[in-house]
Amino acid sequence: MSEARLALSTFRLENALVVTMNDDRAIVRGAVDVVDGRIVAVGTASGPSRGPTIDCGGDVVMPGLVQAHVHLCQTLFRNQAEDRVLLRWLRERIWPLEGAHTPETLAVSAELGIGELLRSGTTCLLDMGTVHHQDAVAETVAASGIRAMIGKAMMDAGEGVPATLLERTTDSLDESLRQARRWHGFDGDRVRYAFAPRFVLSCTAELQREVGRLSALHGYGVHTHASEQVEEVALVERLTGMRNVEYLESLGLCSPRAVFAHCVHVDGGERATLARTGTSVCHCPSSNLKLGSGIADVVRLRASGVNVALGADGAPCNNGLDGMLEARLAHLLQCATNGPGSLPAADALWLATRGGARALGWDSMIGSVEPGKDADLVRVRRGDFRSGSGGDADVYEELVCAGGRDLVRDVWVRGVQLVSAGELTRLDAAALAVRGRAALRDVVERSGVV
Ligand SMILES: [Zn+2]
Repeated sequence: MSEARLALSTFRLENALVVTMNDDRAIVRGAVDVVDGRIVAVGTASGPSRGPTIDCGGDVVMPGLVQAHVHLCQTLFRNQAEDRVLLRWLRERIWPLEGAHTPETLAVSAELGIGELLRSGTTCLLDMGTVHHQDAVAETVAASGIRAMIGKAMMDAGEGVPATLLERTTDSLDESLRQARRWHGFDGDRVRYAFAPRFVLSCTAELQREVGRLSALHGYGVHTHASEQVEEVALVERLTGMRNVEYLESLGLCSPRAVFAHCVHVDGGERATLARTGTSVCHCPSSNLKLGSGIADVVRLRASGVNVALGADGAPCNNGLDGMLEARLAHLLQCATNGPGSLPAADALWLATRGGARALGWDSMIGSVEPGKDADLVRVRRGDFRSGSGGDADVYEELVCAGGRDLVRDVWVRGVQLVSAGELTRLDAAALAVRGRAALRDVVERSGVV
């Protein structure tokens, strides 16, 4: 493995259609030169290649997708929590299952999730984590080679929270800080830490205020769910007398380090607060549809100056982790609500790449194919019937609207190839599926969920 890693950290992709996603959204034909995991030239090669050369045969090379809201611990629970609105979905299925995890079942769940993310072209993720044994998720992320911002879920209050997930405020903060010190900046900044207070209804004000203070002090991220669903927003208002985002701001949680998942039900004042504080929103279209939460007004959020990213959320509210599909749905939903052309395919791909990179504070390193950035790259096959006429100008529509994850051929993170010809290089997908089924049986049995 180490030899392959060294060999592929310096290489040249040639004969590619490079969808750069740079500020000019340039599309160029030619080469991408990678030296020691970093892009050094795009378009015209930079002299003789110092490593292997890969002929892309006209395929697309684009930046890896960034998914700014996922739950790796829930991958095992795909197809296990159907036909419920958010709070029932959590209380009756997800929380009891999550509370029954062991370090071993968590590791399997995280591996399954990372494998699926990589194969659909996702090279970077923001994970909500879980309350206990979070090290098992972090260690799996670390070993996998994927780029990630991770955190331990924090839950020190809330109706319907099982004893297996409820924790004391000081324990939650202490364990989060221990995790942050262990993982923030790991492997040359491939892994970062974000505090993960789950949502207002499962966290005390004391805990959230301390998270805001510690995030400002140490520069760790903040990752929470906000304004996902009508019932949740009403409960927060009854509890605090404030709109959800205004309440989070009063606790010091809004900042350029913060990512709020969903924000389906926010008013004009909340949009202004998100924009003014530099807080990013992660739009999760599949999840919002499946749980009947509604459709986030992405066009209005962006027009208000809010940075928007995309995420699949957890496998059981989706039921997949396909970043390409989320971009397509984001595009289609705004067609339905704000009209065709309101969020073109190129903009949807922007959310899935640059929007995510900015949300995680990684915009200077990833999110586009540009010299100086890390080689987090995806090669997407062209030339089948979905390529249509094959014109370069239609490539965004081809990728977002007509394409799909089955067209993802190769994936690199910092120049290390993690998917080759559609197959995972570091994980045995078939063996993993078998381990996944056994782990799920184990968790279900212990959870008492029927
Ligand atoms: Zn979520």
